[in-house]
Amino acid sequence: MTDLGMDYPLHLGVTEAGEGEDARIKSAIGIGSLLADGLGDTVRVSLTEDPWHEIPVCKEIVSRAEGFAALGAASTVKLPADPADPFSFVRRETELIALSSGCLAGSGELPRVIVRSIAGLADWQAAAKEILDAHAAQREVRAEGLLLRLDDPAHAAGLRSLRKALGQAVPALFVETSLSPADFPFDGSGSRLVVVKAFAAADGAAVKTWGEAVTKHDAILAADLDGPTLAALTKELAAIPAGRLILTSSQPQDGLHATGTYRELIRCADVAQLEAPLWLRATVANAVRLDAGFQSRLIEASIFAGGLLVDGYGDFLSCETPTSSAKSLTLAYDILQGARMRQTKTEYVACPSCGRTLFDIQSTTLRIKERTGHLKSVTIAVMGCIVNGPGEMADADFGYVGGAPGKINLYVGKTPVKFNVPQEEAVERLVDLIKEKGRWVEA
Ligand code: SF4
Repeated sequence: MTDLGMDYPLHLGVTEAGEGEDARIKSAIGIGSLLADGLGDTVRVSLTEDPWHEIPVCKEIVSRAEGFAALGAASTVKLPADPADPFSFVRRETELIALSSGCLAGSGELPRVIVRSIAGLADWQAAAKEILDAHAAQREVRAEGLLLRLDDPAHAAGLRSLRKALGQAVPALFVETSLSPADFPFDGSGSRLVVVKAFAAADGAAVKTWGEAVTKHDAILAADLDGPTLAALTKELAAIPAGRLILTSSQPQDGLHATGTYRELIRCADVAQLEAPLWLRATVANAVRLDAGFQSRLIEASIFAGGLLVDGYGDFLSCETPTSSAKSLTLAYDILQGARMRQTKTEYVACPSCGRTLFDIQSTTLRIKERTGHLKSVTIAVMGCIVNGPGEMADADFGYVGGAPGKINLYVGKTPVKFNVPQEEAVERLVDLIKEKGRWVEA
């Protein structure tokens, strides 16, 4: 449009997003990431739910766009272009880092999930219980790092006890601290230690001391800083051995929103030729606008993290705004799935309410979810009609498509394989088809 001199408003939507939290996450990633880049004038959120449920989600997403626009209007920061290619997906190359022998991170690995402890080290037993309870409530997902604060030397014993108690149940403890390396409790055994330390541009000596300390104690340093700070500390950061450094930013750079802050951090890391893995932190400080309630936090975290993940950025993710560890854990995994970075449950593609739908799309989608929700690596499309359904079901493995009133066609990929199956038996025939293709496991 720019090449042709056109300035028509641009409409954004994510079609066939499905229902529930997953659909809200996919919508926020798709629409919100473009709004954060300054693209988009009207939006529609498209849910397999009653249409009035779409409106609050639109409002949540748009309110953040207003925040981006206000920051952009006020900002005097002028930056070079982001190195990401917006037209094709390439994951940013980063070094390998070992949280444990069985849990590696970096560009050749799955993005890893870190959960912020609500209880904290003041009550280490409560912190252990909280994360083990969150694991117990989930079948498929585990925290790969637990984030805590340690400022009071009196809590050092609690950290040692927690490391020992969790052992391999949580591969690493990420410890934000204001203590000096000499006072930090590196001793003890159990989960690996990742020291999370904020640095300013004048902290060259501190980076050097912390780099030496984590190397000596077989720990890892997560440097919390923005792009200009990284540029000022390049020499000291580059001296830290490979596999011992993670980059992150817990608050936005002056004049930028959090997504822009991370893009600038990555650009500065590329200039400095630092290939340390990147930890995306959806913190309160990084939020454009955070209202009470989980939906607001879900949308905020999805826009921030999703927009970076789909550009190939991010080796760790923590969603730190939900007020329960269990919610932080599942939200991070759901965002990774929505961005197609890590699939831990069945993926659904489903139509919104639409005049062409040939069956009750909401109740049918729920019935299909009930039967197939335990299949970890399968994508199923539930499409209301054959007019547009096959074209809109993207890269689904199986399709359940309305062929005629009361009749369903079943697809394997984009190929129809069963026609005019009576609707009453179509869900079971879909299950048979998944079994026939060797993709079924028992719940
Ligand atoms: S029913 Fe058909 S036209 Fe309507 S959203 Fe679904 S595929 Fe598209």
